[in-house]
Amino acid sequence: MVKKRKILIPQPTSKFLRVRCPDCGNEQIIFNKPAIVVRCLVCGRVLARPTGGKGIIEAKIIKELD
Ligand SMILES: [Zn+2]
Repeated sequence: MVKKRKILIPQPTSKFLRVRCPDCGNEQIIFNKPAIVVRCLVCGRVLARPTGGKGIIEAKIIKELD
């Protein structure tokens, strides 16, 4: 993953988010359009839920990554 070639990715609204669990404060990276329910790796709280389109993020978003 060190190549810096530019690749067209047909998902302009898909991105990764750094979030903090509201219950235990754990930080982890999640996808903003999850296909399955994403849980905190430490305490198991639901951080994101899938919907038909955009996922519902239930955690505190610290930063958006691209
Ligand atoms: Zn947690």
